[in-house]
Amino acid sequence: MNSDKENDSVQVAVRIRPLVVSEISRGCQDILEVFTDINQIRIKDSDKAFTFNHVCDTLTSQDTFYDTCVKHLVSNLFKGYNVTILAYGQTGSGKTYSMGTAYEDNEQIGIIPRAVHDIFNYVNDNFSCDFNITVSFMELYQETLYDLLASKPREQCVLEIREDPKGLIVIPGLTAEPVTSASKTLEYLCKGSRGRVTGCTNMNAQSSRSHAIFTINICMQQKNDSANNKTAKFYLVDLAGSERSKKTGATGVVFREGVNINKGLLALGNVISVLGGDKQQSYICYRDSNLTRLLKDSLGGNSITLMIACVSPADYNLDETISTLRYADRAR
Ligand code: ADP
Ligand code: MG
Repeated sequence: MNSDKENDSVQVAVRIRPLVVSEISRGCQDILEVFTDINQIRIKDSDKAFTFNHVCDTLTSQDTFYDTCVKHLVSNLFKGYNVTILAYGQTGSGKTYSMGTAYEDNEQIGIIPRAVHDIFNYVNDNFSCDFNITVSFMELYQETLYDLLASKPREQCVLEIREDPKGLIVIPGLTAEPVTSASKTLEYLCKGSRGRVTGCTNMNAQSSRSHAIFTINICMQQKNDSANNKTAKFYLVDLAGSERSKKTGATGVVFREGVNINKGLLALGNVISVLGGDKQQSYICYRDSNLTRLLKDSLGGNSITLMIACVSPADYNLDETISTLRYADRAR
């Protein structure tokens, strides 16, 4: 791993969730070993080892995870960088828990509410700028994009992804709610997450088969200098489960979802691996899926991306865990 990786535009954090009660009662074994000092994760009794920017073990609290992996990125928003955080992993690996997409107000809160609080603390302490902040919440399900904040029936909330003449991504009609406080922002997070689609698979009754994309847009204008303004987009993406549909036992409609979801994750993996330094391949193909089209402005260029690879420590998830670690490894 490069020693200057901290400054790179793509960073990867691996987070291992603890064994859950059902795994403990089934006698599952923990097959992962963490070497914190060298940011390495190893599969026990094998020669497989992976090194990332951060490797967080099962004891890492929400608080510590945020402070170690995320907090320093949030401050970059105010320098005018776009920041994108992606949670990747099989269903049940801890993506929603880590992101905090399903917001609950307790000490278990994840990244989104913590970042929202940090943003408004910064805004409230800064008297030299005027801020204009809006939030949007979208869901990408089977290549169809929905507006989770539109107060309309779901079938009327379908959005299109377009590019303006400068090549910037625009989403006509997307609800962008102005917000002036953390609590109001979190109300929209709650409102949107209640509207998310979930499907049932063998792996998790509340399995998330769609990508949830929460966006905070920040415009800053220097009070004594109207020409001096900056904008930054903060994308927080709780990706769909990365498991191959075979293992979930899904067939029919759910199986088709699996195929489409993998298309987005595959395209994202290709984009991220180029951004992460695969210099052999310089052409970045954003057009391969709606997920990468949507994130085009927010990956690469003026953006900092953190991929959080979420894994289960249980032996029965070994194949999916290795596949997640390999996917994340392509990003470094
Ligand atoms: P995903 O969104 O990837 O499907 P979840 O975030 O819903 O997975 O997590 C699955 C289960 O594991 C939930 O019950 C969640 O509370 C628990 N969990 C996940 N990560 C952690 C963690 N780091 N510490 C404690 N519990 C966790
Ligand atoms: Mg989830």
